[in-house]
Amino acid sequence: QVLEGLSSSLQKALGKLRSKGKLTENDVQEAMREVRLALLAADVNVKVVRDFVARVRERAVGQDVQKSLTPGQQVVKIVYEELTELMGGTQSRIQMAAKPPTVIMLVGLQGAGKTTAIAKLALSFRQHQHRPLLVAADVYRPAAIDQLHVLGRQVEVPVFDMGTSHNPVDIVRNGMQEAERQGADIVLVDTAGRLHIDEGLMTELEDMKAAIQPMEVLLVVDAMTGQDAVHVAETFHERLGVTGIILSKLDGDARGGAALTVRQVTGCPIKYVGLGEKVDGPLEPFHPDRLASRILGMGDVLSLIERAQEKFDMDKAQEMEERMRSANFSLNDFQEMFRQVRNLGPLDQVLKMIPGMNKMKGIENVDLNDKRFVRMDAIISSMTEAERLDPKLMNASRRRRIANGSGTTVRDVNQLLKQFEQTQEMMKRVSGMGKKFGR
Ligand code: GDP
Repeated sequence: QVLEGLSSSLQKALGKLRSKGKLTENDVQEAMREVRLALLAADVNVKVVRDFVARVRERAVGQDVQKSLTPGQQVVKIVYEELTELMGGTQSRIQMAAKPPTVIMLVGLQGAGKTTAIAKLALSFRQHQHRPLLVAADVYRPAAIDQLHVLGRQVEVPVFDMGTSHNPVDIVRNGMQEAERQGADIVLVDTAGRLHIDEGLMTELEDMKAAIQPMEVLLVVDAMTGQDAVHVAETFHERLGVTGIILSKLDGDARGGAALTVRQVTGCPIKYVGLGEKVDGPLEPFHPDRLASRILGMGDVLSLIERAQEKFDMDKAQEMEERMRSANFSLNDFQEMFRQVRNLGPLDQVLKMIPGMNKMKGIENVDLNDKRFVRMDAIISSMTEAERLDPKLMNASRRRRIANGSGTTVRDVNQLLKQFEQTQEMMKRVSGMGKKFGR
């Protein structure tokens, strides 16, 4: 689970409000105190926390909230909206050049995950029918060039290099010619990194930027370094005019400080987040609203669907999306859902994106290839079509027969029905929210 600590402490702070019919100013104060502590513990910048809490508090004690039927839920909604806003509001995409190739320069400190990110980007562009070329312009570390070749082979994207004896500006210029020769429409430039910010590096990067006029200068920062990542971003942005941030290692034990702070402090949008150390691990386009909803435990149906779209044929995924969002989510859909989920890989990650699933007890221990999953499938298969559409039809004797038919117990059947009900409830809530928040 991404940003697990922050997520659970915020949910705890807000959970108390959710159930309340009426909110006193005291309730709000208390919750805001806990929200503040949760954010500080996640290493969010102090000033950012102060402003954030002040905004939420002001809105939460407002008349509209007090008069609404579900004041607690309204406060959760306000926190969701403000979190989304804090992280940039809407998705910020890569700008494409009117006349190809689109040049994208990746910069960042050594170890931040630059090379991994560049390979993941290349893979994603290739999968979206682009023809990327990687240019190796880190002339200080021969190993960096080798690494880029290795990753390039893995993602089946060509790599251009000129060894380590030319200057980076020349390499990039030649790289551009090579791109033209190959008909590449995107040039991804890997630049040198250092362990710390250093004047020589900054000057070199400035020169490269001036020479190739890239559409994008993407800075890779390591989410696990928290506020350090924010400082790094500030410095790079001042010198280079960074156009977007790639926040790597958000899957690690990142506390969230960087994700929640960097946009506000630098003004630079986060464009991607890295969620795995392997090149086929996800580098996801960053959606502030989705991360906010993940943090608040509203699940992340949309990211799941997007991943599904990559793995399955579009029609099926589209259909699934519509059904998930509609109120008629049935046992058929439930079955289809976990059948598809099983094909999605890293299953523990995927499962936790499904609304409600992350709250289910023992979810950490579920092994998805295990028999339980097969059992759930068998149980649904033993129901009649009418029962799948209307579970209420299953009385005790039908449940017994279904258990027999699927080689399971009545308890298993009941448990499945209960899980289905919970999921259905969540689906309803999420789709209701989607409408309210204008998705
Ligand atoms: P560079 O020096 O900036 O080019 O960094 P690398 O791309 O070589 O990455 C440094 C280390 O971080 C490697 O061990 C990567 O596998 C790891 N890494 C990079 N991105 C991610 C990520 O998104 N998640 C995790 N868990 N590890 C990552």
